[in-house]
Amino acid sequence: MKTNRPENPHQAALLRLLREGPRSRAELNDLTSDAAAPSGHAYGTFNWRMSRSKLNAALDRLVDLGLVESDGLAESRGGRRSGRVRLSSATRFAGIDIGATSVDVAITDGELNVLGHVSEPCDIRTGPAPVLGRVLDLVGKLREQGLYTQLNGAGIGVPGPVSFAEGVPVVPPIMPGWNRYPLRETISQELGCPAMLDNDVNIMALGELHAGVARQVNDFLLVKIGTGVGCGIVVDGKIYRGVSGSAGDIGHMRVDENGPLCPCGNNGCLEAYFGGSALAAQAESAARSGTSPYLAERLAAAGSLSAEDVAIAAAQGDPVAIKLIRDGGRRVGQVLAGLVSFFNPGLVIIAGGVARLGHVLLAEIRSVVYRRSLPLATGNLPIVLSELEDIAGVVGAARLISDHVYSS
Ligand SMILES: [Zn+2]
Repeated sequence: MKTNRPENPHQAALLRLLREGPRSRAELNDLTSDAAAPSGHAYGTFNWRMSRSKLNAALDRLVDLGLVESDGLAESRGGRRSGRVRLSSATRFAGIDIGATSVDVAITDGELNVLGHVSEPCDIRTGPAPVLGRVLDLVGKLREQGLYTQLNGAGIGVPGPVSFAEGVPVVPPIMPGWNRYPLRETISQELGCPAMLDNDVNIMALGELHAGVARQVNDFLLVKIGTGVGCGIVVDGKIYRGVSGSAGDIGHMRVDENGPLCPCGNNGCLEAYFGGSALAAQAESAARSGTSPYLAERLAAAGSLSAEDVAIAAAQGDPVAIKLIRDGGRRVGQVLAGLVSFFNPGLVIIAGGVARLGHVLLAEIRSVVYRRSLPLATGNLPIVLSELEDIAGVVGAARLISDHVYSS
């Protein structure tokens, strides 16, 4: 079974507008008429103007194609009541977020509301075949729950650099065996629908843009601090990927010439100082050297430490754990201060597993950025934690594929 696609830019633009929710034909006319169309829009610039007759013809055609359906009559605005329309209630997207240590899969409707979400631990280093097996099992599980019969598309995020044009990971440092693996094509064939692949940071930024703290913001940065560190760049409501797809890879920016060796082969990278792996290593060394009896106790009990242990120790007031978070926050803040002066964003979002270190980390990052960036850039700059946390990636992956499907 094949699902239909819009036939021209006007139909595609209407589908993207309806992704925000049902609308009356009169409201859509307000948004798209030559006279009244706004120049900007919360979801990027909306610049398709059409006459009322063209609008109605486009909507009727979308109904014929099974992409839009009638949704009753709107409240009267004084005259005849206008018909409401919505995206087809059968529309389904899969959002797949493959992390370094876990896999998340969600099924959404056309408006990207999450209908079902499953997550399980999964080590990306086991390679494409076993990880893909887990992904397809989880998608199948959601199908068995009756959440979909046919997918309109699947969006995928992976924790490494991606050639967006080719749909393949490229020399991903923490994904051995995945270099140039045809992930987009494989998922598309297995699930029988269009698929799009991007890195995990970009899909998180898309998730925040669609349903999180960045809903009303068209230009922002999202810094993901997970196992590694990366930055999603949103310009005018769209992801900025650069020429080859590596824009925002800030984890390997040098913060100290004499710093520790990074897995990328250089030394003094931000990621070698901070991020899930670096923090776990620093916590273990603090535990072994006896500077933190609290971490030593946890190490003895568990055999290894993670960033989460540092968070728990800090919450208990352990001074070593608090210092590790402050030092890391300072390094991130130094890099971010430069980015803020360069990019002048309207918002900075701190996200990812390590962001759950919470307010000690946030306070340190804020203090460095506000002190070191240009006052004109920071005068009106909120730096906040992600609100979506676990679902930012899957919602963003669904948003990625819906942008593709809702284009002509
Ligand atoms: Zn590096």
